[in-house]
Amino acid sequence: MIEVVCVPALSDNYIWLLHDDRSGDTVVVDPGAAGPVLAAASARGWTIGQIWITHWHGDHVDGNAAIKAATGCTITGPAAEADRIPTLDRGVAEGDTVRIGAVAATVLELPAHTAGHIGFHLAEPAMLFSGDVIFAMGCGRLFEGTAAQMHRALGRIAALDPDTRIYGAHEYTASNARFALVTEPDNAAIRDRAAAVKALRAVGRPTLPTTVGLERATNPFVRSPDVATLAARRTAKDAFRG
Ligand code: ZN
Ligand code: FE
Repeated sequence: MIEVVCVPALSDNYIWLLHDDRSGDTVVVDPGAAGPVLAAASARGWTIGQIWITHWHGDHVDGNAAIKAATGCTITGPAAEADRIPTLDRGVAEGDTVRIGAVAATVLELPAHTAGHIGFHLAEPAMLFSGDVIFAMGCGRLFEGTAAQMHRALGRIAALDPDTRIYGAHEYTASNARFALVTEPDNAAIRDRAAAVKALRAVGRPTLPTTVGLERATNPFVRSPDVATLAARRTAKDAFRG
């Protein structure tokens, strides 16, 4: 069994800590800070053996050096961004495999937020660690890529098994829900989910992970029928102050 722990860090990042109870392997995804992850691992008696990185942004990699110094772990991330992730041990690309114990994860190239952004997809248990590509009811900003690339990336994610759990790297859901409500005011699934999100956030609970099925029903970016619609929605969200 793979246990996944949510470690909140910085202002709104989630660092995901994975532990495989058969092998004892422990993996951290996108540690933007070292302290909270090392504490969460040691509180459970786990030793971090690997870090998996989705993209080069500081809020995803700034904990790398300190975690590596403390544990001797290996760091795997996008080969295309190796020059911007100086702590990297192994660069990976589309179709490559990484493992936690006997469980394999496949690397998906999902460029748009950054040019080399990747995700880690486990088929069984079905999980996607997606960095800043997809969030609950939202998607990442287009810093280094195009709306066409984001449309393709979200299409690949939407094509995964609907029960796949999606572990995004930020708690942006309250704002995303407000934007989704004005974007698709007649969508009852969005209204229901917005209410559920409000209740979770009122008591400080995370709204992630989400699932592929839930995003297909409530995410206005995943639901964009074409690139032009996605582009217009992304531009509107960038300026949205709801
Ligand atoms: Zn980012
Ligand atoms: Fe980020």
